[in-house]
Amino acid sequence: MNSTQSPVYHTSVEQKRHAQDVARRQRMGKQMPKLREMLREKYRKRIVETRKKCTDSNREIQLSELREILRQELTELEHDLDLEQLILDELLSDVNEWYALGEQNLETLYVEPDDQPKEVLCPVCQMKPLQRQKKGYLCECGVKFEHSADMEQLQSLLHQQIVSHEVKCTQALRFFIEPSSGHLYNMCGSCDYFSSV
Ligand SMILES: [Zn+2]
Ligand SMILES: [Zn+2]
Repeated sequence: MNSTQSPVYHTSVEQKRHAQDVARRQRMGKQMPKLREMLREKYRKRIVETRKKCTDSNREIQLSELREILRQELTELEHDLDLEQLILDELLSDVNEWYALGEQNLETLYVEPDDQPKEVLCPVCQMKPLQRQKKGYLCECGVKFEHSADMEQLQSLLHQQIVSHEVKCTQALRFFIEPSSGHLYNMCGSCDYFSSV
C-alpha cells in the first residue's frame, strides 16, 4: 500500500480549484513567509503578555479578540480573501500551539495542592517533586543542585525563564545540571536561549 497517494479529484471543478490554489500559493510564496514572520513576532509577544495577565478562563475571549485583530491587520495588507484565511488559520494554529505549550509547562512544573505547601516539580526529570536541602535541592531522579532561593522563589524563577523563552520560541526549554559548577541551567536546542537558574 502506498500511503502517500495524491488526493483524487472527482470533478473538474475540484481540479480547477486545486490548480488555482497551487498557483496562488506559488504566487504568494515569496511574500507570505515575510508577512507571516512579522505577524508571528508581533502577536507572540502580545499573547505572552496577555496570558501573563489573564487566566485560562479568558482564553476564548482572548482568541476571538486576537482573531479580530489579525483579520483587521491582514485586510490592510492583502486583499485576497482566501489567502487571508490561509494566513489567519496558520497564525491561529500557532496561537493554539503557544497556549498548549504554556499550559503544558505550567502543568508539568507546578503541583499546586490546596492547603499543602507548594511543591515544585524537578525541572530536569519532570516526574518527582524537588526536596529542599540545606543549601540546595534534591530530586529522587538523582538531580542535585545548589540554590539559595526557597521553593516559592525557585518556582517563580523557573516560571519567568520559561515565559521569557516562550516569547521568542515555540520549543520547550530543557533544564540540566552543569557538571563543573553543579548549578541548574536551561537551554533550548532550537534557538540560542541559555540561562542559569
Ligand atoms: Zn528529578
Ligand atoms: Zn528556543
